[in-house]
Amino acid sequence: MTTAAPRDATSATASEAATATPEATAERVNLLGMSRAQLEAFFLSIGEKKFRATQLMKWMHHEGCDDFAAMTNLSRALREKLERLAEVRGPGVVYEGSSRDGTQKWVLEVEDGSYVETVLIPADNGKRRTLCVSSQVGCSLDCSFCSTGKQGFQRNLTAAEIIGQVWVASRSDVPRADSRQRPVTNVVMMGMGEPLMNYDNVVAAMQLMLEDNGYGLSKRRVTLSTSGVVPKIDKLSDDIDVSLAISLHAANDELRNELVPLNRKYNIRTLLDACSRYLEKSPENRQVTIEYTLIAGVNDQQEHARELAEVLHDLPCKINLIPFNPFPNSGYETPSRNQAVRFQRWLDELGYTAPIRTARGDDIDAACGQLVGRVKDRTKRQARYIQSVQLDAP
Ligand code: SAH
Ligand code: SF4
Repeated sequence: MTTAAPRDATSATASEAATATPEATAERVNLLGMSRAQLEAFFLSIGEKKFRATQLMKWMHHEGCDDFAAMTNLSRALREKLERLAEVRGPGVVYEGSSRDGTQKWVLEVEDGSYVETVLIPADNGKRRTLCVSSQVGCSLDCSFCSTGKQGFQRNLTAAEIIGQVWVASRSDVPRADSRQRPVTNVVMMGMGEPLMNYDNVVAAMQLMLEDNGYGLSKRRVTLSTSGVVPKIDKLSDDIDVSLAISLHAANDELRNELVPLNRKYNIRTLLDACSRYLEKSPENRQVTIEYTLIAGVNDQQEHARELAEVLHDLPCKINLIPFNPFPNSGYETPSRNQAVRFQRWLDELGYTAPIRTARGDDIDAACGQLVGRVKDRTKRQARYIQSVQLDAP
């Protein structure tokens, strides 16, 4: 691959690709985030057959290949044409580290020099590896306990930058129980950013995660986590079938307004009704996951457990308890282990088995809300934070 000025083509529509001609294309288009339809349009536009799209997808997503010269089932003439017109460009790896517990983290440089982080969390004796993927640089929703929220919103990631995180992790040589198994078995959209505030690019990237010529993950192994953008939850069930996780954190509106300001727009009842509608429209998803970050003295008392069980009464769901991960000047504290277990027991008595998700990868800053990244961005604005939690996905 040469290094001529690239253009991120994930924003390129099929019609844009279709109108691209060798003469008109001064910059090379990035094929990585393109859907099959967009790739087909691209190949037709350069006088090639549609089926090349499938070949290209397999090279990019199955083989992790970014070098047209190595794509040996394409003719030499086509390879040379692609070299001139296109490129396969994932995010640059700025840092790669692994934790004592096997968690792997990458700091990735995206288009404008911003950094995002992605974390691969092994579980189940190496049988499952869950990749925690970011959707935005920063976040506009400003949840009071979230370090990403504290840094404000910078920009949406493109589909290429989102799927690029899966691409980077999939090309890596992570330890596996069975080397024939793919490095990434599950994806959770729980990194930096609110995925439903970057709807089109997130859905496009998730399509590639599900698609056979992409990463071939089953819908139950791709989970979108949201703080509750209700209209987009409704839209999501029309567009794609993935598992849904809801960041609830409080079961009364007064407290949730404080923790998750978006609650002032879409309150708890409105949000849980949207979850019920989602499940109705998506029969394979039998339940939603409720994420509940436990914050000492704020939402970890018996009355909170009671309220939680009450509001969730009619919703098929499972609850994940996440002890708050501290960060400087948050003003909040993590509950003691005893308190978290007590909260878990109260829920248990009310009929809910709720695992406590322990922080993973602390020694490489990869735990929830702690992904500060010791690396600063180029503009030296602010250290970037992301958080990850591991889900009890199949
Ligand atoms: N914006 C989406 C997804 C990213 S946040 C959402 O809010 O769901 C992923 C999860 O990490 C969310 O459940 C979020 O509430 C949780 N989280 C954020 N900051 C945290 C912290 N400091 N400690 C523990 N969990 C945190
Ligand atoms: Fe954004 Fe999610 Fe953090 Fe809230 S918890 S500020 S929605 S990333």
